[in-house]
Amino acid sequence: MAAPRILIIGPPGAGKGTQSSNLVSEYGIDHITTGDALRANKDMDLSHLDTDRDTPRAYMEAGDLVPDEVVNEIVDTALSNADGFVLDGYPRNTDQAEELESMTGLDVILSLSVSREELIDRLTGRRVCDDCGENYHVEFDQPETEGVCDECGGELIQRDDDTRDAVENRLDVFDEETQPVIDHYEGRDEFVAIDGEGTPADVWTEIKSTVDEHTN
Ligand code: ADP
Ligand code: ADP
Ligand code: ZN
Repeated sequence: MAAPRILIIGPPGAGKGTQSSNLVSEYGIDHITTGDALRANKDMDLSHLDTDRDTPRAYMEAGDLVPDEVVNEIVDTALSNADGFVLDGYPRNTDQAEELESMTGLDVILSLSVSREELIDRLTGRRVCDDCGENYHVEFDQPETEGVCDECGGELIQRDDDTRDAVENRLDVFDEETQPVIDHYEGRDEFVAIDGEGTPADVWTEIKSTVDEHTN
């Protein structure tokens, strides 16, 4: 069986990062995530592009989308170096979805949904490892030692855009820009809607059986 090509899509806080980490361990595939790639290059100079702001940081701190040309390039490069993958955080609008069509096929599209209230609780309580990017939550997914990553011993921090105001804007951007992408995928054979409200373990059980069904 070829390594699976998985797209995981859903609003900020739906559990994409958490479940991607399970997919990587289970299937030995690459995690391709535009959010992490951009965070590692926050101060990249964009002044040569005809964009409103000069760095990814300026967009991300406000919770707005970074220009398509920047993220398209990141994904194109990462995909050409990957065998199987889980793509997380892209595409986020219909133009990016069209770009993706020209780059690769997909075996399964996992669409995670969670209510807005729950998303706000998850995002404002999220902590991430400053070294390896692993996700935790102050209530729902605590590390063994407070403030310390179980995986690598790194320091757990709160993201700049996990504040109440940025979170509200990110959820609005999702509704306006990303929901149409999901509507466009719905009805394809690869598309599967996943209830993201259960425990991380419940959601994982559903995801694993879905991926196995679509790749065997
Ligand atoms: P979350 O996990 O909360 O959904 P991400 O880490 O995926 O958030 O993304 C953080 C920020 O990075 C976004 O709010 C946006 O500013 C930028 N970003 C990430 N992916 C994309 C993308 N595909 N297109 C445009 N901007 C993006
Ligand atoms: P995304 O990548 O979609 O933005 P994350 O995987 O980072 O989402 O999850 C957002 C926050 O919610 C994190 O703090 C994570 O620990 C927590 N979380 C993830 N899945 C669940 C779940 N099923 N139930 C409760 N909290 C969760
Ligand atoms: Zn870590």
